[in-house]
Amino acid sequence: MRQAGRHFLQIPGPSAVPDRILRAISQQTIDHRGPDFADVGQKALEGMKTIFKTKQHVFIFPSSGTGAWEAALVNTLSPGDSVLMFETGHFATLWNKMARKIGLEPELLEGDWRGGAEPDRIEARLREDTNHEIKAVCVVHNETSTGCVSQIAEVRKAIDAARHPALLMVDSISGLASIDFRFDQWGVDVCVSGSQKGLMLPPGLSFNAVSERALEHAKSVNMPRSYWDWHEMLGPNTRGQFPYTPATNLLYGLNEAIDMLHEEGLKNVFARHARHGAATRAAVRGWGLEVLCARQGEESGVLTAVLVPHGHSADAFRATTLKHYDISLGNGLSKVADKVFRIGHLGDFNDLMLMATLSGVELGLAKSGIPHQSGGAQAAMELLKEATEERFAAE
Ligand SMILES: *Cc1c(COP(=O)(O)O)cnc(C)c1O
Repeated sequence: MRQAGRHFLQIPGPSAVPDRILRAISQQTIDHRGPDFADVGQKALEGMKTIFKTKQHVFIFPSSGTGAWEAALVNTLSPGDSVLMFETGHFATLWNKMARKIGLEPELLEGDWRGGAEPDRIEARLREDTNHEIKAVCVVHNETSTGCVSQIAEVRKAIDAARHPALLMVDSISGLASIDFRFDQWGVDVCVSGSQKGLMLPPGLSFNAVSERALEHAKSVNMPRSYWDWHEMLGPNTRGQFPYTPATNLLYGLNEAIDMLHEEGLKNVFARHARHGAATRAAVRGWGLEVLCARQGEESGVLTAVLVPHGHSADAFRATTLKHYDISLGNGLSKVADKVFRIGHLGDFNDLMLMATLSGVELGLAKSGIPHQSGGAQAAMELLKEATEERFAAE
């Protein structure tokens, strides 16, 4: 049966695609080796540097984020290399599994899924590695399965404090363009990202921002690679081109997204996400429920994972909420399957969209018979009234 009104896609990615981007994508596909394309390619490659905050190179692949994970590993490492990873949640675990599948020796520092990566534990492990067997440290910036943020600048400091030469690789697939990220300033060697979260695009583009040092590494390592080979990309990229057919229409959309982010100003984008995260947590407290992220200061502005009381099913709640209020909420992944639901508050999103989302959750809690107090949405509104939006001059 037809449902009137608009659907609320409040999963933590893909995020809803704004009309401006949909329109940009709907233009005719052009010859990707012809004269007009170079401008599109050049603008995308240069524009993404402003989003990663880097003067170094950014690669763009026609793939989901998982592809860019693989690209980061196969370009910088050799079979049998050790890499140190931190178990922030489901996505860190998947990256770890991939590393093993392609022939690396990953070590996963255990985490409780309630905070970001712990720099002191990374430092301690690197200090033990006196022979420098560990070739890379891999951390997830915004862990989309838990709603916790890792302090990337602190991880860099930990590596430097241990005087360890490992490369720093960061998954900011869901952090980039929603929460602060500074590739050059934080000394990141490879950052992996994707199109369908903070960048507000449909799925299908992925990115590697790469330091000069990591590019140099790529010349001497011997992991088999072809599609993902950075050095095959470099030459064509200098002319705004790609070695194989790029996702032309998504690049139109990407250029529109980059313009939109700068028109608002990245600082304002980050402040908006932080404010919506705070309002969502106020709602959760108002309902008398628990936020999965337990470490203060590491809560995400991208999404909030909420624990449902024991004996209740988060998935049944999500199904009921979808059916009655036409809102898609994120599910709990692996270890927290059916125990949490995730509220996405990322991308092209404003106060009223957040209020509708939180009202939908509150209505759904009541409809599903999940024990809670009413008034969470009201508490979020009080926070929005008081926390007046800071406005920074656009860039
Ligand atoms: C979404 C996401 C991924 C996976 O990206 P795909 O585009 O689904 O391949 C990996 N890591 C994080 C942190 C994510 O949010």
